[in-house]
Amino acid sequence: MKTPLTLGTGSSAVVKSCQVCKSPGLENVLFLGYLPPVNTMPAIGSTPHEQPGYPAQLLRCPCCQLIQLGLIVDPRVLFPPEYPYTSGTTKILRENFAELYRECRSLLPLKPDDLVVDIGANDGTLLSNFAPHHRVQGIEPANVGNLANQRDIPTLISFFNAEAATKVRAEKGAAKIITATNVFAHIEDVHAVVDNLTSLLAPDGVFVSESHYVHSLVETLQYDTIYHEHLRYYSLHSLKYLLEMHGLTVFHAKRIPTHGGSIRVYAARPGQYPAQASVAAMLLEEKRSALNGARLAEFKRQVALSKMQLQSLALDIKQRGGRIYGIGAPSRASTLINYVGLDDAILGCVLEVGGSHKVGKYIPGTLIPVLEESRLFADQPEYALLLSWHIADELIPKLKQKGFRGDFIVPLPTPRIIKADSSTTN
Ligand SMILES: [Zn+2]
Repeated sequence: MKTPLTLGTGSSAVVKSCQVCKSPGLENVLFLGYLPPVNTMPAIGSTPHEQPGYPAQLLRCPCCQLIQLGLIVDPRVLFPPEYPYTSGTTKILRENFAELYRECRSLLPLKPDDLVVDIGANDGTLLSNFAPHHRVQGIEPANVGNLANQRDIPTLISFFNAEAATKVRAEKGAAKIITATNVFAHIEDVHAVVDNLTSLLAPDGVFVSESHYVHSLVETLQYDTIYHEHLRYYSLHSLKYLLEMHGLTVFHAKRIPTHGGSIRVYAARPGQYPAQASVAAMLLEEKRSALNGARLAEFKRQVALSKMQLQSLALDIKQRGGRIYGIGAPSRASTLINYVGLDDAILGCVLEVGGSHKVGKYIPGTLIPVLEESRLFADQPEYALLLSWHIADELIPKLKQKGFRGDFIVPLPTPRIIKADSSTTN
């Protein structure tokens, strides 16, 4: 989970018109019920008391095609000040940022004194690839940015607002590259953010964004990525629409593997860089697999089906006396557990690495305790349910190597069991 770049207006709001193009007449895609805020995790042993639930409804804009949430929850509820913002960096993410650097080098004429700015810079992992060769500047609202400063990646601890953009521009000059990875869907006032980053961008500057890809979401039934921090689910079409509203033209786009399927999109002012064939190709592909009424109705049906299949698989295990422990408590785990209706009689506990602030708490909306990962090896339950199933290939060998001898359940897109003795994860 990441801190949003801004805190928006500070109240919850029902979405009556498209968050990007303001068109009315949004169409219903899916309703996952009322979900608890993912960062409200009571301590183990505390008595359950009144807790809010927010409608998790997905809507589609018929004009710009943006898929979006039907309610913008007050960011102060979603990101309470006492919440320790931390962010793990997975292997897939580190490799992705190294590849992003290589791609920038091959696509753009970069000079040593060019400035590279990362907004929502986290612990500086992305910029660490550019730092040996170019000037870098991170902007990060949460304290995790101090980790970047400690490793000599200058990082401004601030929300990304007009003041932050002006300050960086005054001190360091205009940016040749601005990167924003996995932050574009989380902010309420996306138009202000694009305006601010455009004001920081050099005339020939390039904006590189990475966003979870709505076509990946639909193709692999990632309904578990629907929670209130994710306000928008982009296609290239809808992202291009947004950027063009602010005078930026997309000149390169590609799919990348992060977060279960994302898109990396390069944009600049018109005429600065030749359009790569990738843009037209991806737009054509999106047209072919259009996320329209019939396709989205099928998606809705498949989501419901996968819920019942997972319940049925768990039922079968419980009838045979098997124990199931969950692995990992990312935000998406809360959606999956609450939507499917798993409780502490089905899922004995969810395990997190030692030191995580989630250890010692309940999964939101349940009495499922979050315990330290070492319990997996001590208790050896018959099944480990992978809640970060999108990195199953990374997790399974790691857990086996650490000594877990049971089988694995991959909950999505189709719930399936991977036997402990199988050498592959497919
Ligand atoms: Zn729209």
